[in-house]
Amino acid sequence: MESRSYTADATPGETVTVAGWVHEVRDLGGIAFVILRDTTGKIQIKFEKDEMDEDLVETGLGVHRESVIAVTGAVEEEERAPTGVEITPESVEVLADADPELPLDPSGKVDAELPTRLDNRTLDLRKSEVQAIFEIRAEMFRSIREAFRDVGCTEINTPKIVATGTEGGTELFPITYFGEEAFMNQSPQLFKQLMVGSGLERVFEIGPIFRAEEHNTPRHLNEATSIDFESAFTDAEGAMDVCEEIVIAAYEGVAENCEAELEALGMADEFEAPEAGFERIPYEEAIDRINATGELDEMLGWGDDLPTEAERALGEEVGEHYFITEWPSEIKPFYIKDNDDDETLSTGFDLMHPRLELVSGGQREHRHERLIEGFEQQGLEPEAFEYYTKMFRYGMPPHAGWGLGAERLVMTMLGLDNIREAVLFPRDRQRLSP
Ligand code: ATP
Ligand code: MG
Repeated sequence: MESRSYTADATPGETVTVAGWVHEVRDLGGIAFVILRDTTGKIQIKFEKDEMDEDLVETGLGVHRESVIAVTGAVEEEERAPTGVEITPESVEVLADADPELPLDPSGKVDAELPTRLDNRTLDLRKSEVQAIFEIRAEMFRSIREAFRDVGCTEINTPKIVATGTEGGTELFPITYFGEEAFMNQSPQLFKQLMVGSGLERVFEIGPIFRAEEHNTPRHLNEATSIDFESAFTDAEGAMDVCEEIVIAAYEGVAENCEAELEALGMADEFEAPEAGFERIPYEEAIDRINATGELDEMLGWGDDLPTEAERALGEEVGEHYFITEWPSEIKPFYIKDNDDDETLSTGFDLMHPRLELVSGGQREHRHERLIEGFEQQGLEPEAFEYYTKMFRYGMPPHAGWGLGAERLVMTMLGLDNIREAVLFPRDRQRLSP
């Protein structure tokens, strides 16, 4: 379609060719309207039956909903039309017929359950409020990339097929690699750390992570997108500063550039970027505050991971993004550095949205001997990770970083109930296709 115009650009006085989907056919007798929809919006096509060529009327009004058509005609002002303009067609071409029976109603008049929507994602994404999620997701990545560049990061891509997992064990998907066992990577953790010892020093990656988690929850995927940061000569505080900046940049980009999409989601009025200066709550204080809410059946003790209800109770109290810092060393992975003054404490932190965890990060153990000890304590064989540990013998600077779940960021930003809403084709226990 060489000379195709978007419906949003149709200006009275012009003759244009628009192309898109038949959103609706409204036949009022002597006059009828086809509402044509494209990626920019909708436009009304007017058919005056007595005054127009019979074939033209027949073609225009005979199409099934959701068929793809191209219409050429004059654009005129029309107050009563939904967008204030309409097209009087000179020609109508049917480019692709749609079956009269649709598995999903893209006009949104008939609600569909999430599984039906995901099975028919193409049709589902014809709805402006669904399309909006993915336009916002794209803008979020654009502004995040820009913000990373502004703080001196180089974007990297690391392998997703690996010989060993990051933290070993149960969450790995095994695959066969030319007859050998290999795995889908669960995190770029070890690779991004290797880059802080390279000349790059400060890196970020946006890429898939694969986790064979058995549970099916509204906030877990088996293939997710991780936004990873890692920087030499940075401690946990510095990493949290960057984390805060990136999250705020994502919100600001969306607030600035996604007005129409926020409108489509009905959140244009209330949408706001969080304010800088997220509270940093030490783990010990966090469990005290959670226990004090009285929301939990059982009191939390030192060393407990925070169950979902605990995260929610504290989230409700804080009411905004916040960090939990100084986690017990014993519940953080081997590559997280311990606190210099108290080995029972780690430099690990999580960024929490009031609803759920968004980020885990920390300063890393960069001392070779300590790192090897950490592997052993976690029951991992350091030999299997030699490609990684070896580099810690050749000048690995102190460093810190974090990983942020992209879908969780979209989910919390837009108040989506289910993380699957933030992925085109989610992978979960039931879903391997489409
Ligand atoms: P959770 O405890 O919520 O399952 P986690 O602590 O296992 O998450 P990390 O290994 O800390 O996850 O990963 C860093 C971030 O990546 C998480 O904070 C989250 O935003 C995201 N993430 C991790 N696993 C998943 C998953 N299965 N689906 C979607 N996002 C995930
Ligand atoms: Mg975590």
